Order: sequence, then C-alpha cells, then structure tokens
Amino acid sequence: QEIIEHLRIEHELSNVSFNTWIKPLRVYKVVDNTVFILVNMNASVEYIDKKYRLPLTVSIAEITEKEYEVVFISEDDEQLEEIMEMASKTSEKKKTKSAAQKAGLNPKYTFDTFVVGGNNSFAHAASLAVAESPGEVYNPLFLYGGVGLGKTHLMHSVAHFILEKNPKKKVLYVTSETFTNELIHALKNPKETSMADFRDKYRNNDVLLIDDIQFIIGKESTQEEFFHTFNHLHTAGKQIIISSDRPPKDIETLEARLRTRFEWGLIADISTPDYETRMAILQKKIEMDSLQKYNIPADVLEYIASNVKTNIRELEGSLNKLIALYKLENNQREIDITLAAEALKDIISSKNQREVTPELILDTVSEHFGISIDDLKSNKRNAEIAVPRQIFMYLCRSMTDTSLKVIGIILGGKDHSTINHGVNKIKSEIEENETLNNTIDIIKKKINPL
Ligand code: ADP
Ligand code: MG
Repeated sequence: QEIIEHLRIEHELSNVSFNTWIKPLRVYKVVDNTVFILVNMNASVEYIDKKYRLPLTVSIAEITEKEYEVVFISEDDEQLEEIMEMASKTSEKKKTKSAAQKAGLNPKYTFDTFVVGGNNSFAHAASLAVAESPGEVYNPLFLYGGVGLGKTHLMHSVAHFILEKNPKKKVLYVTSETFTNELIHALKNPKETSMADFRDKYRNNDVLLIDDIQFIIGKESTQEEFFHTFNHLHTAGKQIIISSDRPPKDIETLEARLRTRFEWGLIADISTPDYETRMAILQKKIEMDSLQKYNIPADVLEYIASNVKTNIRELEGSLNKLIALYKLENNQREIDITLAAEALKDIISSKNQREVTPELILDTVSEHFGISIDDLKSNKRNAEIAVPRQIFMYLCRSMTDTSLKVIGIILGGKDHSTINHGVNKIKSEIEENETLNNTIDIIKKKINPL
C-alpha cells in the first residue's frame, strides 16, 4: 500500500490512471529478489509492464531499501502455478550453486558425470549412502586410490548431492594442503586470522571433506590440529570424508590415534578402471564436452582406451590432445589412429616402464631388432621384418589385454586373423626354438624389468 501511494505521488498519476492500472495490482509472491505481481484480467500485462515496471521497481527500492525485480503475471494465466514452480526451482538452483561455489566445489564433479565401474562401485555406493544420510552411516568415509582415479570427483559429488537437497547445509571441501597452509598462516599471523577464526571455519560445518590427507603426514602440528578438528566434528555427529593415495594402515608416519579414528568409519578403495569402464568414461567425456561433432571413430577411442590405463585424468587428457592436434592441423587431417598415436606420444612414452602398453612393446621390439616402426607396421613379408612383427603380436597378447583387433589396427590395419596366425606361430615356435625363446625372454625383460 505504501509503495502504491509512493508511486502515485512520485509520478503524479491521475486518479483515473491510478484506479484503472495500479490499484488492482496485487503482490502474488516474492521469490528471492523477484516480486511477482498479479495483473487484473481486464488489463494488458504488456501495457502495464511497458509503462509501470520501471516506476514500480524504483518505488519498491525506495520504500524497502532493497532491489527487487518486478514481474507482472496475468490473473487468468493458466500456467500461473507452473511459472511459480519454475521460479522457485530456479531460485533453489541458484542457492545450491552459490553454496557449492562457497564450499569450493567443481561444478563438473557430480554423481551424474561419474561413471561407475568395477574399480569404483564400492566407493561409489559408500559415497552415495553418505550423501543420502550425512553423519548417519559411515563416519568418516575414507576413500583411497592412485592418482587420477576419481577420488576428488567422488568427494565433490557427495557435497553437491547434499547441497542440492539442502543448500543451507554447511559443506566445506579443502585439500589437506590448504588446511595446512591456513593453519600455518593463522599461527604466524594471528592478527590477520586468529586461531579462533581458523577453528571456526573448520569446525562449524555439517560436512567436512579433506582431500589428499597424505600431505599432512609428518607435519606434527597439522596432525594435532586435524585430530582436534576431527574429534570436534565427529562428536557432534558431523560428516567427515577423507581421501588419500593409500589406506590408513599404509601411512607409516600417521599418528596412531589418527589412524584409529580413520578406521572408525568405512574405508573404500578406487582401483584402475577396466577396458569397458575406460571406454564408458571416454563416451561420457565426449557427451559432457560436446565433442560429438568431431565424429571420433570407434577404433580411435578403442586405441586410446587400450593405451591409457592407469590414470583417468590422462585418459581424458588424451582426448583433449587428439582434438587439439586435429585443430592445429587446421582440420586437414582425419581423426584416425595415426593422429591419435601422434597426439598420445608424450602420454604413452612418459609412462614409467612398469606400465606395459602396445606402444612400449612396439618401441622395444623395434629397438631390439633395429627395425623401424614403420617397417613393423608395413606389409613387407621378408623374414627379418615379418618375424619381429609376429613377436610383437605375441608379446602384445601375452603382456597386455589388447584385443586382436586393436593389435591389427596398431599394425596399420591388419585383420584379426593375420594377428591370430602370427601369435600362434610364435607360440608354437618357442616350444622348440631355444634361441627364439631366449630372445623373447630378453625382450620381455627389456619391456618390464621387474
Ligand atoms: P584423483 O582425485 O583420484 O586424483 P580425480 O577425481 O581428480 O582423481 O579424477 C581425475 C579426472 O578423471 C577428473 O577429471 C575426473 O572427472 C575424471 N574421472 C575420474 N573417475 C571418473 C569416473 N568414474 N567417471 C568419470 N570421470 C572420472
Ligand atoms: Mg584428487
């Protein structure tokens, strides 16, 4: 009412204008910063919007001292309910989004974008259970696994899930490095950040996620502080999620009392993904990053999935490199295995020797016999080249789980029966031929010294 009066006076509206247009307006609902105003059936929403939205916005701002957006809706609008529902959903989403930002979360790391495979299904299920009932099931949840296998992704997924259900929950994600640095800062600069501020930040949470806990190992004062943070939260029934590159029992210098606490809840590991999971992750990545337009052939994806095995970050990186190389060549070249091999050169050769890939075997065979990789991939049939080529086929089959088909592709597009023939020929020959047997032994040791 006050607003309407203000509007009348400020804009010197005539009685007739005022009575016709302004007086019948009713506030329908206020959602966040938006005021929804119902317009009487007989009036035109467009007209009122054009003529009175601005003045009304100003009047509202002057009276309430807050800025609101004004939206007029018609009384007879059949979609009234729907509009309001959408508005409140958008508002929920906004709240969730800003809460997620504040919590330090990557918007891409959600359960929706996480591919579940045999390597991570237990960790995934445990995380989902915790997300559904924080503080009530497994506390703490301790996730461990090698680099680039999805620990951080899974932790963020839990946090997003909780905030989506309730944006008011206090969720904080930090790496143990941040925790340590902030602690050091508080200890050194008590005037800038007091210990009380520090403790408040970490203890005043419903869910605390600490990533890569292994980095606090050996730092006594950090462990001490974390121990107290942990106890405080745990006693209050607040959820704690911890990740590490190894299980608590293998963290040698971890204080016994911390280790015991980590073992209170549930410990779940994430291991390396199998071939199917790697393929599924590549597909997901293509979908998420809208890479469909590049029409990457299936055999190229198979090639990447067969060669990049122990790190999902590298798996994704391979796809990015391939696209980058394709663009670099001004889209002149086709996306095929050759281009992929070029793009993946660094990733594959920078692997330490322990990771046996077809590329590593190819390099080693080429070097051992002094034959170029191009010759190995060619169709030349002279024995000096054909035998090493067959040895490569055989080693690929016995040292990796590369399919006959993919081996054929690596060898410049040979069909799988050719590969099968080569593998079997070597298999039967090493039974009788001791030097061949010895040669293959030596090459194997070159490939994998362990
Ligand atoms: P970690 O924390 O274990 O080192 P990250 O969680 O950072 O690994 O994962 C590395 C990359 O791989 C991220 O881009 C992540 O999105 C992706 N990733 C890992 N696991 C999966 C999965 N199961 N599904 C989809 N993407 C995954
Ligand atoms: Mg991580």
